[in-house]
Amino acid sequence: MSKKISNPIKLGNIIILSAPSGAGKSSICEAVLASDKKDTTYLISYTTRHPRTGEKNGKNYFFLSEESFKKMIKEGKFAEWAKVHGNYYGTSKELLDKALTAGKNVILEIDVQGGINIKKQYPYRTCMIFIMTTDFKTLEKRLIARNKDCKETIDTRMVNAKKELEYLPKYDYLVINRDLTDAVESVRTIIKSLEYKIQKDTIYFA
Ligand code: 5GP
Repeated sequence: MSKKISNPIKLGNIIILSAPSGAGKSSICEAVLASDKKDTTYLISYTTRHPRTGEKNGKNYFFLSEESFKKMIKEGKFAEWAKVHGNYYGTSKELLDKALTAGKNVILEIDVQGGINIKKQYPYRTCMIFIMTTDFKTLEKRLIARNKDCKETIDTRMVNAKKELEYLPKYDYLVINRDLTDAVESVRTIIKSLEYKIQKDTIYFA
């Protein structure tokens, strides 16, 4: 007769949030985290990009030189890494595994290449969410309205957005950010549903 294991070891889930620049991913991520501090956490990435005004080391990113980043690649310290818009970005394997073992849902705000790599390594517990505006025109309008980038950068970001959208079939969920509150609620609902997902690497009954 099989017996239900009362307390199976419960690892957390990885929630990949990817989006073209300007789709509102960071605002959604911040709001989701603020609403669920107990079970969900954010993993700070490493990058060789220079900090923007107001960004802090250890809060937004761990900023490091290209030489140090390459050393970490050689030492196998990254669960994934990628070159995005000319800079290196990577997810620490140690920090990720620590959070998962603590049973936390871990949000990774990373690009499409990184998302696909993580899914390959953690196939049972990676949930991939793609965030997009209603259409490309709206995305462009948002990039212009936030007044952060010059015309050339916006054009590059639009070209990249179209490339990123090609990876949509690899993702599990698409959230259209028409309205921030609704988009946050959608992401929260997806994360909540993971609680009921059967984890193929967990023994529930023995
Ligand atoms: P930004 O420089 O604007 O903060 O980020 C640029 C891009 O790099 C975004 O698409 C962001 O999601 C992605 N990114 C940030 N951290 C990581 C990471 O650790 N790995 C990968 N693959 N992409 C990342």
